[in-house]
Amino acid sequence: MTLAQRDLAVIWHPYTQMLTAATPIGIKKGEGAYLFTENGHKLIDAISSWWVNIHGHAHPHIAQKVFEQLQTLEHAIFAGFTHLGAIDLAEKILSILPSNQRKVFYTDNGSTAVEVALKMSLQYWSNQNQKRLKILAFENAYHGDTFGAMAVSGRSAFTAPFDALLFDVIFIPTPDERNVKTLKSQITHHQSDIACFIFEPLVQGASGMLMYEAEYLDELILHCHSHNILTIADEVMTGFGRTGKLFATDYLQHKPDIMCFSKGLTGGTMPLGLTTCSQNIYEAFLSTDKLKTLFHGHSFTANPVACASALASFDILMQPQTMLNIIRITAQHHAFKLKIQKHPKLKNVRQKGTILAIEWQNNADTSYFSDLRTQLYDFFISKNIILRPLGNIIYILPPYCISNTDLNYIYEQIELALEIF
Ligand SMILES: *Cc1c(COP(=O)(O)O)cnc(C)c1O
Repeated sequence: MTLAQRDLAVIWHPYTQMLTAATPIGIKKGEGAYLFTENGHKLIDAISSWWVNIHGHAHPHIAQKVFEQLQTLEHAIFAGFTHLGAIDLAEKILSILPSNQRKVFYTDNGSTAVEVALKMSLQYWSNQNQKRLKILAFENAYHGDTFGAMAVSGRSAFTAPFDALLFDVIFIPTPDERNVKTLKSQITHHQSDIACFIFEPLVQGASGMLMYEAEYLDELILHCHSHNILTIADEVMTGFGRTGKLFATDYLQHKPDIMCFSKGLTGGTMPLGLTTCSQNIYEAFLSTDKLKTLFHGHSFTANPVACASALASFDILMQPQTMLNIIRITAQHHAFKLKIQKHPKLKNVRQKGTILAIEWQNNADTSYFSDLRTQLYDFFISKNIILRPLGNIIYILPPYCISNTDLNYIYEQIELALEIF
């Protein structure tokens, strides 16, 4: 039996309508920017395996460090105990974050990193006996799939069955030159109720790689800070070089109080999440009153093997070659953007660093579930490229090791798709 046949008998896949979905493709092996299928195809992974893989698949340095770690310590309870990997990683991450970030709280995925950020913010106020229960977020946001993360995400087809149970959030559009004044006065109006403002800095990933300017986000952050509203940057997708700088927050003058990381953190090797915060937030939990403790933790909090893979990924991230690759991909994307952006079938082409998003003109059905989406997905798979459109938007978000040859091949196939669809 093939992997695909055995899979169908026992597995329920994420984000998949199991009745109508195509048979899953069995992957046997990964190497660099490629995934190898059980049918002998070599696929270019143009989306970094759901945005997590930044240095290529089965990277030998990460593999070696994980192997060594497994022979030393595979797990240690993280309440009352600690270990070298967690400490090393916290020190190294803090050394490259904005200098106001002082403490690292470990979890094991992006959604839980967001849950912790929300709990930190809400309890920050309750520990000081202040009633601030509202959260400010962007329309079209995506912060994860657990209930708290879902609540601060834009309402959509994905949240519909749960909408009645999601807590109240003030949603505002992403800022631009025209609306930023109005948004600020809206914030002022609610200021004493708002505990925090959570945002995906500069790029809203899951809603279609929607992009907005750092300048106006800066204004909102400054405005929040001057009204005592905590700010949370969800860098789960944008972190670790994706937007052309190490962090999207590096484009900002005003720094968030709390930051969330996962995805690229371990080079896409192991699940791991981080929530970092400023000293001010940390100190609001220090008390002889035990009730002021942050009561949150997961069985796999700061798992040593996950920390080892993150440390190995950090080594590669800090090599000069990695930033050169990011700059190279950014330049290639930019040239291709200039080439196709006027195409009559396209509504918009946008880019931030290594992310290039290409939006087809609206037709009758351009939702996430549109036929165009399936046709484009199938087309690129038939060309041995993994691109997973969000509705009528295709995007390239590759591992930084991808070659110019492979990038050019992807661009050519996109031009071909523009002739067909
Ligand atoms: C993917 C994502 C998450 C959720 O991370 P998971 O590890 O999938 O739970 C949260 N925020 C953003 C911005 C993301 O892109």
